[in-house]
Amino acid sequence: MALAVPATLSPSKVTSFKDCALAFRFSVIDRLPEPPSPAAVKGTLVHRALEQLHCLEPAGRTLPAALAALEAARAEALADPEYLALALGGDAEVAFHGDAEQLVRRYFELEDPTTVRSIGIELRLEAQLGGVRLRGIIDRLDLDADGELVVTDYKTGRVPGIRDEQGRFGGVQFYAYLCEAVLGRRPARVQLLYLSEPVSIVATPSEQSLRGLRARVGAVWQAVERACAHDDFRPHPGPLCDWCAFRAHCPVFGGDPAGARALVPAAVG
Ligand code: SF4
Repeated sequence: MALAVPATLSPSKVTSFKDCALAFRFSVIDRLPEPPSPAAVKGTLVHRALEQLHCLEPAGRTLPAALAALEAARAEALADPEYLALALGGDAEVAFHGDAEQLVRRYFELEDPTTVRSIGIELRLEAQLGGVRLRGIIDRLDLDADGELVVTDYKTGRVPGIRDEQGRFGGVQFYAYLCEAVLGRRPARVQLLYLSEPVSIVATPSEQSLRGLRARVGAVWQAVERACAHDDFRPHPGPLCDWCAFRAHCPVFGGDPAGARALVPAAVG
């Protein structure tokens, strides 16, 4: 039976499909529930604190202000079902919030926020590319000293290894494409701020790199359409299986993918 194709593609969906088509189907097509991970919830908390920091006037973007924003984000999180589902307590909770604070402190080693000229925060952009609608959220859009656009993306996970780098930079080009398509200007730079190291990786989008992005996303979209037409999403076992929320339904681990959808009455098709 043919499955409905997803309405949009985002950088994370492209990565998900390339990492494992079957996990993509479970998550994006079947929309099976995925338990929140401490890393993802911590990332949300830190993003929220930095978002609030950059809503302040430049002179007020100090470390104490950032820590106050993190404290406010933490208070909001206490009513957030995803945070509550982590059921943190005792040492785990102390370590979780200690890590979040460390990430916010390390942000200040990467840039001086009082010098940043932000013109957009948590910017939702959508644009058509051939037959597919692309969607992405830009953490921050700045103007540099020359009036050029700069896209900033905060990363709370590890810095990608050599093998992953192409995939992560695919995300960079994705943001650059969205900026150019929606705002009519290609950003001069896209910077990924890896807070855990801390390390910043800067890419300069070009006509050639965006041509590559268009070709790669077009190929992924064709593969998604083919997989949906034939309901043929193959597992791709690898290191990500250790964190996969769908192992119980995965044939590699003795599960039955066909039965997975029946387990979720609210699943859409
Ligand atoms: S367990 Fe591994 S192979 Fe199976 S769906 Fe998850 S990521 Fe894919």
